[in-house]
Amino acid sequence: MDILIVPFGKVEHEVKELIKKKLNEAFGRNVAESGNEDLPDYAFDSMRDQYLSIRIINRLEEATDFERFDKVLGIVDGDLFVPGFRFIFGQAGRRAAVIALQRLRESFWGLPENRALYLRRAAIEAVHELGHSYGLGHCANDHCVMFFSNTIDDTDRKGADFCGECVRRLGN
Ligand SMILES: [Zn+2]
Ligand SMILES: [Zn+2]
Repeated sequence: MDILIVPFGKVEHEVKELIKKKLNEAFGRNVAESGNEDLPDYAFDSMRDQYLSIRIINRLEEATDFERFDKVLGIVDGDLFVPGFRFIFGQAGRRAAVIALQRLRESFWGLPENRALYLRRAAIEAVHELGHSYGLGHCANDHCVMFFSNTIDDTDRKGADFCGECVRRLGN
């Protein structure tokens, strides 16, 4: 019962490698990687310059190539939204989830680039969204990876680890 990661657009090797390692540690599953896909035009909203996350999740859940994987995580080199929100860092369905890289870069916020911080954020968002796919809800502990990130500061505070309560829930 493996996990597959699917990069959309130009997702750096280092990002993919770190996410694979962190997902393996967090969920104890083998993690495979598909070839890079083009940016998902079918999900693009040109008025917002963002991708509608549910369309990507649906595509990942329906793809016959990916059927043998237990969970599938899309990684988009762009920005995501759901109606009613200005943006989201990621979204999860039952089997597939997706995360967006654009807001994880310090340069997006007008700050000097910070590679280590960017990588750390990508790992956190990946573990968080797949945590949902494995049945976890949001956690009230603001240092747990399952705490809801409303801002990038929330992401930076919490880190990529589950709290004890979420570890117990995952094991059940
Ligand atoms: Zn969440
Ligand atoms: Zn927790």
